Amino acid sequence: MKLTEVVITPIAMKDPPLRNIQGVHQPYALRSILQVHTDEGLTGLGETYGDLAILTALRGVGPRLAGLDPFDLNGLERIIRETLGSAAGLATHGLVGEASDEKTLATVLSAFEVACWDLQGKALGRPVVELLGGKVRDRVPYSGYLFFKPATHTPDPGYPADAWGEAMDAEGIVAQARRMVGSHGFKSLKLKGGVLPPQDEADVILALRDAFPDHPLRLDPNAGWTVASSVAVGKKLEGVLEYLEDPTAGIEGMAEVARQVSMPLATNMCVTAFSHLPPAVRVDAVQVVLSDHHFWGGLRRSRELAAICRTWGIGLSMHSNSHLGISLAAMTHLAGATPELTYDCDTHYPYLVEDVVQAGVLEFIDGAVAVPDGPGLGVELDLDSLGRLAEQYEKCGFDTRDDITPMLAVQPGWDPVTPRW
Ligand SMILES: [Mg+2]
Repeated sequence: MKLTEVVITPIAMKDPPLRNIQGVHQPYALRSILQVHTDEGLTGLGETYGDLAILTALRGVGPRLAGLDPFDLNGLERIIRETLGSAAGLATHGLVGEASDEKTLATVLSAFEVACWDLQGKALGRPVVELLGGKVRDRVPYSGYLFFKPATHTPDPGYPADAWGEAMDAEGIVAQARRMVGSHGFKSLKLKGGVLPPQDEADVILALRDAFPDHPLRLDPNAGWTVASSVAVGKKLEGVLEYLEDPTAGIEGMAEVARQVSMPLATNMCVTAFSHLPPAVRVDAVQVVLSDHHFWGGLRRSRELAAICRTWGIGLSMHSNSHLGISLAAMTHLAGATPELTYDCDTHYPYLVEDVVQAGVLEFIDGAVAVPDGPGLGVELDLDSLGRLAEQYEKCGFDTRDDITPMLAVQPGWDPVTPRW
């Protein structure tokens, strides 16, 4: 089997005004959808970031893959490495750590690698989870992801406001959590922090603890705090948090916090590439790494990360950006075959109101998604939806994720400086 043609479609999906340390989500989140065709009539699906820099890199690689066997993942990496050459690191939003050549390669590789896994599974009539060694769990648990948010975007994007309403204080977040748990059954909760002053966010966590006494809780201010603030919150939430995620910036800063608080520290910011692991292990900076196949280089490399975490006694969780069903399927197959993953995965999926995959496969029941059992990723493209979201991309006026500009519309003079507190 040989690859013949790669079709890369940028899409825009409606996204609620979710807040974070940098600002607020734009009214549309951008993704790139890959259709990788073969000479046997099969099509493999991939999904990754939609920022222009990524899209350009994907489009540079696509035509070079003609003739590649989709089972030849080492060959895929070789072609991508040669194509990207010494290109500078892709611009990336600051919530997933700094850009680097290593991450550029890993990000581009991942998008095509997942499509190749999908093709391998379709060719063999087997789900990807079986190609990764088989299921260690039938259903993958996800955490309910809570966000501070206003009710509407500013300015009005011209489509109806999302159903979640405003949540800018403890009462709003607890209501959001009740709705999240009520509709999807999540068994753990994560709050995106970095929006209110740290002690106020700690109080929101305590309110969640009162409302949900048995749910593991996480807080992630995206490195918005100083070491001193991180330690203060860490001490206040001792025995309350399952883990504290990226309270402060950098391996050294995290190590200093880790020495003074009792709960594990997690990261998807200071350890985001293999080269970050040795210095982080040396100073015991993080006790949990959030994997993310989109920027760790795909499913195979994510399993290498899992093995390293196992070796060094580091916990493994999973990170999420705004994503569609192709990514959720890939995350679920990967998690379904990864025994080291002992924390519920993150997902933005409950906020999604439109998808490019056909409905009916990916469903949250009791907070978990059943590993799809169809061939490959087990999801099929809805071509009408893909066309509609591609049109939305052309019309929306965005080509790169930017949380700062829309925040300036809400709050003139907004300064996204970190640490803020
Ligand atoms: Mg994070």
